[in-house]
Amino acid sequence: MKYISTRGKAPDLNFENVILTGLARDGGLYLPQSWPSFSNTQIKAMQGKSYQEIAFTVMSPYVCPEISESDFKDLIKKAYSSFRDDEIAPLSQIDNNEWILELFHGPTLAFKDIALQLLGYLFDYVLGKRNEKITIVGATSGDTGSAAIECVKGRKCADIFMLHPKGRVSDVQRKQMTTVQEVNVHNIAIEGDFDDCQALVKALFNDHEFRDQVNLSAVNSINWARVMAQIVYYFTSAVALGAPDRKISYSVPTGNFGDVYAGYVAKKMGLPIDQLIVATNINDILSRTLSCGEYKVGETIPTISPSMDIQVSSNFERLLFNLYDGDGLQVNSLMESLQRTGQFNISKGRLALAKETFDSMCVNEKATKDTISEVFKSAGVLLDPHTAVGINAARKKWNDPATPMITLGTAHPAKFPEAVKDVTGIHPDLPPHMADLFERDEEFDELPNDLIALKKYIVERL
Ligand SMILES: *Cc1c(COP(=O)(O)O)cnc(C)c1O
Repeated sequence: MKYISTRGKAPDLNFENVILTGLARDGGLYLPQSWPSFSNTQIKAMQGKSYQEIAFTVMSPYVCPEISESDFKDLIKKAYSSFRDDEIAPLSQIDNNEWILELFHGPTLAFKDIALQLLGYLFDYVLGKRNEKITIVGATSGDTGSAAIECVKGRKCADIFMLHPKGRVSDVQRKQMTTVQEVNVHNIAIEGDFDDCQALVKALFNDHEFRDQVNLSAVNSINWARVMAQIVYYFTSAVALGAPDRKISYSVPTGNFGDVYAGYVAKKMGLPIDQLIVATNINDILSRTLSCGEYKVGETIPTISPSMDIQVSSNFERLLFNLYDGDGLQVNSLMESLQRTGQFNISKGRLALAKETFDSMCVNEKATKDTISEVFKSAGVLLDPHTAVGINAARKKWNDPATPMITLGTAHPAKFPEAVKDVTGIHPDLPPHMADLFERDEEFDELPNDLIALKKYIVERL
């Protein structure tokens, strides 16, 4: 498969180079040149297959034969061996026709493990073959950081520098990152918010000299492999509930638009998805954009669902590219407008196109807490606040109760114990492999929101 940049000015790349490159050199994001698609018969044949088998079927058109089929099967097998549930992403029912897709059984208890565990093995495989080493720099609003560190800790092929906004991630999230004591892991607390961290990372990528000097790479959801691995669980969950013979709807707690974009791709690949709901917290830039076409950056407000406290949603650019029929120049001019003025407008026609696929809703803090309480009372299930945002939106936006509604369960409740305890009175326990997290030693450095200081720090530690 050939990959092209959303801004149309960077060279086309193959799969291996796309995963090593992250952000395209023209500032864009890579996408496959075409969408592979499955017939109903092919989708029906997935029924009864294991997660790993479906993962291979869904992802191989993007990866093989560049990586051989048998090597890729092996990488998939290794990636999911660290999950605590044999089904990898089991469904649990909470009401009539209403389900949670539990994506939090990986090593760091959030859905990001599903893609990042695979990416870690892909890096190892590709870099090992080439005898090369990369420097990974990432920004995290909480969950990406620990999942990314977990995927490359102790590996010879990579150093990782992870930026988090100082004081703005939960204690569990910070400890999961800063207690990993490996020489190739470097945690940095930036004096700023998540968008500042993300802007620093983007600036490093746009500095081509620095980028080449350290062989820079990315693990955040600008990396195509992240989106690709997330397409899989739309297929596994839909066929488990009877697709392709019936349609399935999804509600997706959304921040950087990676997870829900993977759902959009699943639909393009032939999966009969009815509704795809973009559920945001009060940092509602995406729900505003999808309702009126105006993408306008505001202040980030801290909430009890911190992994969605985002104003600039990187992956939205991928959707823009599709809405504008792959016209990189149009995407370029929207992104330039964003850079210059902090906003852009999507034309009426293109917005109507987006609305054919996406519903959206912003869920405030009180409604999020009410949902945690309701679901605990009615189903005895503890929800993490991100998943609760998804369930609230699902219940409000659900068009047809005869169509199964699946909300993506993006984190384990024990990752956000304060919020859960506050509402239900119950402190969700960490699973046994992490029970001593709070006794482990932390190690991280603090830096100002300053590009030059960051570059100096990285170069000194390599
Ligand atoms: C990252 C994250 C999200 C947001 O996912 P995006 O792909 O960035 O939209 C939602 N919930 C949790 C728990 C997360 O870690």
